[in-house]
Parts: sequence; C-alpha cells; structure tokens
Amino acid sequence: MDTPESRPSDFIRDIVASHVEKKSYPKIITRFPPEPNGYLHIGHAKSICLNFGIARENGGICNLRMDDTNPTKEDIEYVDSITEDVRWLIDGWADDVLGLTDKGRPFFASDYFDQIYEFAESLIQKGKAYVCDLTPEETDAYRGAPDKPGKESPYRNRSVEENLDLFRRMRKGEFPDGKRTLRAKIDMSSPNIWFRDPILYRIRHAEHHHAGKAWCIYPMYDFAHCLSDYIEGITHSICTLEFEVHRPLYDWILESLDLPRPLPHQYEFARLNMTYTLMSKRKLLDLVRTGVVEGWDDPRMPTVSGMRRRGYPASALREFCRRIGVGKVENMIDLALLEFCVREELNRTSLRVMAVLRPLKVVITNYPEGQSEELEAVNNPEDPTAGTRKVPFGRELYIEQDDFKEDPPKGFFRLSPGREVRLRYAYFLKCEEVVKDASGRITELRCTYDPATRGGNSPDGRKVKATIHWVAAHAARDVEVRLYDRLFTVEDPAALEDHKGALNPRSLEVVTAKAEPALSAVKAGGVYQFERLGYFAVDMSSSPGKPVFNRTATLKDEWAKIDQRGKAGQ
Ligand code: ATP
Ligand code: MG
Repeated sequence: MDTPESRPSDFIRDIVASHVEKKSYPKIITRFPPEPNGYLHIGHAKSICLNFGIARENGGICNLRMDDTNPTKEDIEYVDSITEDVRWLIDGWADDVLGLTDKGRPFFASDYFDQIYEFAESLIQKGKAYVCDLTPEETDAYRGAPDKPGKESPYRNRSVEENLDLFRRMRKGEFPDGKRTLRAKIDMSSPNIWFRDPILYRIRHAEHHHAGKAWCIYPMYDFAHCLSDYIEGITHSICTLEFEVHRPLYDWILESLDLPRPLPHQYEFARLNMTYTLMSKRKLLDLVRTGVVEGWDDPRMPTVSGMRRRGYPASALREFCRRIGVGKVENMIDLALLEFCVREELNRTSLRVMAVLRPLKVVITNYPEGQSEELEAVNNPEDPTAGTRKVPFGRELYIEQDDFKEDPPKGFFRLSPGREVRLRYAYFLKCEEVVKDASGRITELRCTYDPATRGGNSPDGRKVKATIHWVAAHAARDVEVRLYDRLFTVEDPAALEDHKGALNPRSLEVVTAKAEPALSAVKAGGVYQFERLGYFAVDMSSSPGKPVFNRTATLKDEWAKIDQRGKAGQ
C-alpha cells in the first residue's frame, strides 16, 4: 500500500479528487486503450501507471481496451503481447482494479462496431453527418490549413434519406475503398482543423483480426474512441497532449447524440520522452523488421517485454513512473533515472553470486594439489533472510583480466606482481609470477595464498587495499553472458532524420563467463547480482545446464563517467 508520502499527486489526480469529493460519478472508471499495432513501450507504462494508479487510489477500475479500428495495421500477436505486458506491469499492485469482460478478456473497440454504427445513423438522422463523395485528395484540399479556411463539400447538403441510403450501401459493400466517406457536419471555417467536417467512417474491404469479415466500413479513431468510452461508462478518458485539439470533437460527438449523462471527459498529459530511446511504435517496428534487433522483446528495446527480458522488475518501472510524475509540459527524462530505479530495486532483492566475465587463470602454488574446500558466502547483505551458501575454492581459480595489471598505474590497487589482494569470502592472495605465451600475452598468474587469512582477514592486522571476485576452476561452469548497452549513441535519436546512423555498434557483446556452480540451476526470469559486475537476468533461451544471462545493468552508471569526461573535453 502507498504511504501518504509516496502517494502521487498531479493535476489529473487533483481533478479526479474534486470529482470524488463532489460525488460526480458513482465510481471512477479509467481505461488504457492501446492500438494493437505494436508492442507496448516504456511510454505506455507511464500511461498504464497513471490510469491504473488513479483507479486503485479511488476504489475504481481501469479497463484494458484494444483500440482496434484500423484492420490493416493490427494483429492478434499484438493483442496477446499487450495483455501479457499489462498484467505483468500491474501484478500485485493494481491487478484487482483491472477491468475485463465477463470472459476475462480485454475489451475491444471492434466489439462495439454495431453500436457505433447505430450512433452514426443517429447522427445522420439528426442532420449532423453526411456521405461525401470527394476523393481522399480532394477531401484534404477542401479542408484547408490552420491559417486558411476550408471549403464546403458539394455533397454536404444531401437529404437525410439519401445519406442513410448511401451509408447503408457503404456498409453492404457496394462501393470500393476510398469511394465515399461519412463525415460530421460541423464547420468548415473553424480555426480547429478537427472541426472541419471530420471523417467518421471510411470504406476498407479488409478482414479484421477480431471482428473478422463482418465489416467493410470502419469508424475513425475520433468517432470510435469517445463512443467506446461512453459505452464502457468511462469517467476520465486520459490521453497524451497531442489529443488536446481533438477534445472539442470528442465532446461534440457525445453531445450531438443527446446521450444520457454523465458523459466521459478527456484529459491530456505530457507523453514520456527519454534520452537514448525511440518511443514510436512505427520506428520500433522498423528496427524489428530490418533485423537491427532480434525482435520486439530484444533486451535493448524500450518495450515492456524487452525490459522484462532484460531483467527490469515491474516494480522498478512503476517506481520510475512515480518519480517522473505527470504534467502538461513535454520534456526529456534521463534514461539514467530508469536505470537508477532498476538498480535500487535489484540491490534490495537480488542474490549475489560470483562470475568472471573475462577469465584469467590463477594457480596458487602453495595450495595443495588435489585439495579443495568450501567457503561461506552471503547471499544478499541487504536481506538477512536470504541466508548464505557454500562456494568451492581450490588451487586453480579464475579472476577478471581487468583485476590484474603487470605494470599498475597510480591509483590501481588490485593485483599486480608482488602485491596482495583479498579474494572475496576467501583468502589473501599474492602474485608471485606472470606466465606469458610466445606472443607475450599473459596466460596465467602464479600466486601464493595465506592460509591464516581464511574468511578474508589477517590475524596479524595486515591490510590489503582491494577485494576481487573469483571462481574456482575445478567447479566453474561456462555460462553465456550477453552484455547489453544502449542501442543509440545520441541523446535524442528521434530528432534525427536517420536514427539508424546513430546505432551503437557495441550494443551487444556475447562472452562465455566462468561462474560458480550455483548458477547452473537457475530459472528464466531470475535476476542475480554478479559481485562487482552488475545485475544479470536469466534469459528465456536458457536450457537445463546451459544458462544464458542478459546484463540488466552495471552496478554504477558507467555512461555518467564517459559523458562527464566528454564534457570536460578529455
Ligand atoms: P506510438 O506513438 O508509440 O505509436 P500511440 O500513442 O500511437 O504510440 P497507442 O497504442 O495509441 O500508441 O497508445 C495507448 C495509450 O498510451 C494512449 O493513451 C497514449 O496516449 C499512451 N501513450 C503512448 N505513448 C506514450 C508516451 N510516450 N508517454 C505516455 N503515454 C503514451
Ligand atoms: Mg495511437
């Protein structure tokens, strides 16, 4: 449950609160209405958190509705992924306010096509809609521009009878695509372009993924949306700012139909924009289609499914949405904030393990051959209930190549010839000799250990300046690790004409790591902290004994350092 401090407050919640206080509605009903033409992204998560958040804070419900009025771009694959993503994102937080049909399915705008059609006939009967024969190009030209009044269609003054007859024949399929439209009769000289006799229905001889072959005319978004809201009894229809100019039309349609009150109302907020991130389904679809990424759920994608696969917890996405808040001014949110929320959550919850991404072999010359032992390691220092585990130790180990420098620069305190470091949970280790191959590459370190330092401390009070992680060679498991990084190298790829020119060539590197044996029995979806390296999620492509890990996040924001150096001109 939210504490009073964590309970969000914003201008939309203020409006809802005033309605609750005035008892304007018996129940607060919001909706999340994606078009099933792509997977949900982090921008949609903002809208989900807002709509479901308002419902849960006010004892209301939030309907999940597929806004599926465009048969040619939509697909059942998207319906399924959207449903899964919404359920995952609200699980344990707002799942009890999720509004579904009696059958436990999402709502579909296309299920209302009969009613929406009746509403269209009713508008015709009231003399507020007409069938227009202008071609799409003529319709555009007649509409004018914001600074240029439109021109009335010559078909505008058809009789009610003629309009009804033509509209019914449109429905029967007597005309080809584009031949006729149904338009609202409002005002061709309105300063609001959306008031200039907007199209309500168009002819599309296309099969619909949900409605099948029942229709060859389809309502436009503006007509279907307000009516779907009305049919579902939505009280607050919350959308992004670009729909502000559509709001007068939303109200006009509902009012022109003389529908019983209360009517739904539309409220607009600023959409989420985030650095290094594309937030348009069309552009994301293009990345999928052209093979830049492996699919919509590629862990580099800003999609909800990509983030889930990358290991981002749903609670971290919700916390991010809470922190960015809801306002009326568009801005750019730093991707680092999302990563911060992910790290905070995973730091609390993830089990610690040791794995070495770029192994360098260490032989402990004074450790007896053939001997091994087990050392006690803490599973999560943030969570005492997570307990401890045994980590095998032996004569041969792997350490990280980065943790050794033959010729250490100033400030480098990890292993180097003659120097001693602490092996995490184990012993002090001293490098005695560097072994190289013919090309001069380091192949092995020959070291000694101090048996008296078991557990990590020296009885004689001797200090070391660094602690490094390691994996015992005899017990190590090979695991595939996918090191993900940002997909784009520029802050605002959406502003570029060719965003593909700004793709990060190093957004994925695959390595075979050496891991402690605990990591051979893991479940897809689990997230671990590899000590000193970051958080790593078990990918769904893992098979028994062959785990695959996706790097969720590094422990610190490495880009912050790089950006800082960039700014300092280094
Ligand atoms: P896109 O522009 O990516 O194709 P869309 O707005 O067309 O997105 P819809 O499926 O229509 O996608 O969106 C469903 C809901 O999510 C809408 O209410 C929309 O306003 C909201 N939404 C979409 N993108 C964002 C965003 N970046 N930030 C906040 N809300 C968003
Ligand atoms: Mg849309």
